[in-house]
Amino acid sequence: MPTAKQDLGALGERLVVLHCACPRCKRARTLKTLPPNFKCADVICDFCGYLGQVKASASGEGLTPPGLLLGAAWDPQKQRMDSGIYFPLFLVLVASDFGRFSIHYLSADLQMPELFLRRAPLKATARKPGWEGFRYNLDVVRDRLVLLAEGRLPRPRSASPTAQASLLAGSPS
Ligand SMILES: [Zn+2]
Repeated sequence: MPTAKQDLGALGERLVVLHCACPRCKRARTLKTLPPNFKCADVICDFCGYLGQVKASASGEGLTPPGLLLGAAWDPQKQRMDSGIYFPLFLVLVASDFGRFSIHYLSADLQMPELFLRRAPLKATARKPGWEGFRYNLDVVRDRLVLLAEGRLPRPRSASPTAQASLLAGSPS
């Protein structure tokens, strides 16, 4: 069963696919989600091959990015940075209480090593002892984030199958 964090992540990816055109080829509705175990990216453009990462975060009012945000495993990120490889980032802020979201974009060209903060290894008592992750230090890129979209969250899962289907197909609501 997916955890609440995975649900938030999946919602973030769905919102990006629905609301964002491909930043490279400019086509609408060409971004598709990649399988959850695909490591370096979360969405791909099925026209031009553009790859992007999506990070979703719960947010009080749904518009102001947090200063720090939990990332992923440190080692692959460090190896990519050592090779000069950065991926564009869609940051999705979700304000469940208000039913609203916003999507912010950080171009790969505007990222630098300071954005990625290494975390201390997990304690011996953790589920994955010794595992090292990183946090995004969004404070250092605050003036580089671009607001791409904001709007109302899709209806919850209790919505009728028809409403869900039309939402997934991207019909105007
Ligand atoms: Zn594209």
